[in-house]
Amino acid sequence: MGNHCSRKIEKQKITKLAEQTYFTEKEVKQWYKGFQQDCPDGKLTEKAFAKIYERFFPNGDPSKFSKLLFHVFDENHDGTIEFDEFIRALSITSRGTLEEKLLWAFKLYDLDSDGYITKEEMSDILDSMLIMIGDVSPKLIDPKERVDQIFSELDRNNDNRLSLDEFLEGSKSDPRIVQTLSLNNIL
Ligand code: CA
Ligand code: CA
Ligand code: CA
Repeated sequence: MGNHCSRKIEKQKITKLAEQTYFTEKEVKQWYKGFQQDCPDGKLTEKAFAKIYERFFPNGDPSKFSKLLFHVFDENHDGTIEFDEFIRALSITSRGTLEEKLLWAFKLYDLDSDGYITKEEMSDILDSMLIMIGDVSPKLIDPKERVDQIFSELDRNNDNRLSLDEFLEGSKSDPRIVQTLSLNNIL
């Protein structure tokens, strides 16, 4: 009987998640199956999350970046990623509109969630991405220089921090910035 009940809830949940995301019910179901296999108790821990990134970036150290990413996935900040959090984040990062992706990226960059991205926050993220990729090529632009460049374009009122508006407006008008922020390849 318990089994029957939980299946029923599952079906409703899947319908709801298909409405909330860009996935069809069939796709949600497939992701759910995989998620349950990896996390039988329905929760993805920070450690398990980091393991996924280790597989993708064998030459670098993704632990710092995956930790930062984990906090954006974990919407309710209870220390684990539940399936609904997982599928919503996946929907935005893979099929979301540019604006949705930028909003999501803003949350990632705004490390202390005070509504502004500082130069230090942006350097931190870019650093953690480079460490993850494991690219120590000397040709790469110094992350500090890159941050200065991005800020000179986006920080319209020159207060050394980016508001959500500045971030959205600037990134929309210059697609290169989204590329620099790189999110296409990494998420
Ligand atoms: Ca959570
Ligand atoms: Ca901040
Ligand atoms: Ca500003």
